[in-house]
Parts: sequence; structure tokens; C-alpha cells
Amino acid sequence: MDLFSILAGLALVLGAFMLFAGVMGILLTVVGVASALIFLKTRQIIVPRVTLFILNILEAPVRYMLWMFGIEEDVVSNLVIEVRNLLYTRSYNKTPYKDRAIFLPQCLRNPKCPAPLTPEGIKCMGCGRCGIGAIKDEAERLGTRVFIAPGSSLIKRMVKKYRPKAILGVGCHMEVNEGTAKMASYGLPVQGVVLDRDGCVDTRVNVLELLERIKSHSAYGRYHIEEDLEFQEKAVEISKLWGAGSATEVEIIEAVKKSEKGKW
Ligand code: SF4
Repeated sequence: MDLFSILAGLALVLGAFMLFAGVMGILLTVVGVASALIFLKTRQIIVPRVTLFILNILEAPVRYMLWMFGIEEDVVSNLVIEVRNLLYTRSYNKTPYKDRAIFLPQCLRNPKCPAPLTPEGIKCMGCGRCGIGAIKDEAERLGTRVFIAPGSSLIKRMVKKYRPKAILGVGCHMEVNEGTAKMASYGLPVQGVVLDRDGCVDTRVNVLELLERIKSHSAYGRYHIEEDLEFQEKAVEISKLWGAGSATEVEIIEAVKKSEKGKW
């Protein structure tokens, strides 16, 4: 066999491989887009493991196609977070409360928060200007550690120091998506809660959803917060703490300046 025939054979194999990869890429992208559209319409997730795999490798083209359909990019992030939550719910719920760690973003604090920054994050003083103090009390009563993180480096340090066996993270789409993916890659069961209102300061979280995930534990059967009136009332009370302390525009601007100067 001469050199020309060998090269032609290699080119043929390479071409066939590229054609196969291209067709598979298009097919998987279509499945990813279909999953996102079904999720958008029904909040149902079809074949979660396959969906997560597709979105992990083809997130950019799926986002682009959805953008072409005029659908917000957040749909894909939401879907990825929901799928990851679903896949890890069982192992997260099996983890004892004392072996879990919760990371809250510092932007949830009231702009007039008096809490100091310490080597283990911002130390809430429970002043009642926002709901973090009450949420922290609820979690710590169960034995779960709570950290208020000024940045992602704190999360890595605290995970290294305390070795939690499961993580619950709160943040914007990007933070929750990247953070839960990273922690899942360390083999830790994760749950993520996306902020209702994001931004740099004075953000909001769905307290009901957060408390439900904090309290969920397989030893007590599947916990449904909607069946626990006392807890629901507590969640409403905690939510009101943010309402009462809602920041003015001037306070928000001051808080952003402070945070940019690294005082937070
Ligand atoms: S309750 Fe909120 S505002 Fe008050 S110290 Fe704690 S984090 Fe800061």
C-alpha cells in the first residue's frame, strides 16, 4: 500500500469521525434545547442525568439556540441548578445536619449591617435588620454550620477546614451554578437556592425554599414545608425582616461603594 492510499484512508476515517461528532453534537444540542423548553413550560425535568451531561458539555450552543428563540439565558442556568438539585436531593437529605454547611452571600445583608469580617466570613450579630440572623439560628439549632461568604475563596477554605459532607449554597444564577458544580466535582452532595432578587447589595431570597432545604432530612421522611404551618409562619416572619429593613437607593449606592473599596 503506497503513502497516498494510507493518507486517503486516514482522511476518510477522520472525515467520518468528524461527521459523526457533528451529527451527535447537533442531536445532543436539540435534546438540550428540548429539555430546556419542557422545563420552561412544565417545570419537569426529563432524564436528569442525560440533561445535566448535555448541558455541561454543550451549554454555550444550547444557550445560543434559546437566545435565538428569544428565551432568556437564565433558563439554562435554572435548569442546570434544578437538575443538579434533583440529582443530589437524596444524598443531601441523608447527610446528618451536623455534617452540612450552608453558604449565604454577603449581599443578603442589610446595607447598615454591623457584622464584622472575620477569617471565617462575616460574623452575623443577629441585629434583626435582615433575616440572616434568624435563618442562621434555625440552621445552627439543627447543628448545621452557616457561613456568610464575602467571596468564593472563603467557601473553599471553610470546606477544607471543616470537611462538611454536604453543601447548601445561596447566590445568583452564576454563583450557584458554578459553586454547586465545583462542590459536586469534589464528591459532595449539593443543593442550590437562587436569589429572588440579585445584585451587589440588599438582595432577597425565598425564605420558604431556603428553610425547606435546610430542614429536609430523609430520617424524617420527605419534608414538605407546605404541611408545616408553624414553620411557614416562621418563614413569613423572617421574610418580613428584609422588608422592614429594605434599603433606600442612597444606602444601596453607599453599600456598593463600600463593597468596591473592600470594606465588606
Ligand atoms: S442580622 Fe443581617 S444585618 Fe444584622 S448583623 Fe446579621 S447579617 Fe448583619
